[in-house]
Amino acid sequence: MLKTITNYDISTLNSLKLSSTAKYYTILDDYAQLENIQQELINHKKFFVLGGGSNIIVPEVYDGLIIHNQLKGIEIIDDGEYYLVTAKAGEIWDDFIAYCGNNGAYGLENLSLIPGTVGASPVQNIGAYGVEVKDFITQIEVYDLNDTQIKYLTNLECNFSYRNSILKSLPNFLVLSVTFRLPKISPMNCNYGDIKSKLEIIMNPSAQDLRNCIIETRNSKLPSPEVIGNAGSFFHNPIIDTTFANALKEQYPNLPCYPMLQAQYTKVSAGWLIDNLGLKGFRQGNFGTYDKQALVIVNHGNGTQSELLDFASFIVNQVKQTYNIELNIEPIIL
Ligand SMILES: Cc1cc2nc3c(=O)[nH]c(=O)nc-3n(C[C@H](O)[C@H](O)[C@H](O)COP(=O)(O)OP(=O)(O)OC[C@H]3O[C@@H](n4cnc5c(N)ncnc54)[C@H](O)[C@@H]3O)c2cc1C
Repeated sequence: MLKTITNYDISTLNSLKLSSTAKYYTILDDYAQLENIQQELINHKKFFVLGGGSNIIVPEVYDGLIIHNQLKGIEIIDDGEYYLVTAKAGEIWDDFIAYCGNNGAYGLENLSLIPGTVGASPVQNIGAYGVEVKDFITQIEVYDLNDTQIKYLTNLECNFSYRNSILKSLPNFLVLSVTFRLPKISPMNCNYGDIKSKLEIIMNPSAQDLRNCIIETRNSKLPSPEVIGNAGSFFHNPIIDTTFANALKEQYPNLPCYPMLQAQYTKVSAGWLIDNLGLKGFRQGNFGTYDKQALVIVNHGNGTQSELLDFASFIVNQVKQTYNIELNIEPIIL
């Protein structure tokens, strides 16, 4: 049975630590509860599937049902040179990577310490240090809240791209589990910036060394939501026309530019664009950019959604005026 709580405080269930109450809140931790969800949706109409809350911007009052996914369990199958590992959506992402490493299934090390759950990982195709989760996903099991059927999506059907997938446009698809194909020999993706130089001092670094290095690097650069409210990178790195990027690079030679598979587009660093305006560590009221990484917005006090969006608009306008680039907000606004 699903148990629904009324007027539930979700201020501690979102990593930005925004003050927020959900009109209705329920925990999903058993497949048998799926059949009750439909009735709940008829009662409450509006709904939102919550994982770890590390990529969302919640309003002061959410006038609908929050379905908090806490399905747990991991299965691992030997498939020759690979393992097929299926994790339920409510597994904690970083614990899952640790589990895979301990069982000899590698490849996800670069995505270590990203907060949140396994079920959310395909939603925005999480990525870090040159790796994206799409490279390892073979299948996603979803529950379609519209027709109450369990369905399976292949990797191709997910339409993955930079911080995007088909799941973003299908909020009725509740992810139940994700299957990953992980090699038994680590691909050791360590060509990314300072990761490469840090690992060079270790002789024959292992997948665990790579994971340790990623964790150490992230801890030194990103604020922990346990210490100060934040949602990691607040803006996407803009993807712009390569001719325009080349012109910008002439004006700003230090601007980090990353070539894309389609050569007519180039990704540029949103953090650099903000930092170059002197806005790293800038604060207005409860919100500010993090003093070690301008791309992260932190909540210094008890800020609300509207204050945060005002602060974000200020940054967006400054970037637009100076570089003629439109920044897009990464976390999902409820
Ligand atoms: C300090 C910090 C660092 C971060 N670093 C990175 C990074 O390096 N790379 C990166 O890509 N992201 C990063 N993020 C963002 C965030 O951690 C990821 O997007 C993560 O996958 C969100 O997981 P979650 O469980 O917290 O999702 P939530 O915030 O709860 O939800 C995010 C979205 O996923 C949907 N969702 C969640 N669970 C399900 C489900 N079971 N079924 C269907 N939809 C679901 C929600 O409805 C919502 O739309 C960072 C965040 C923080 C706070």
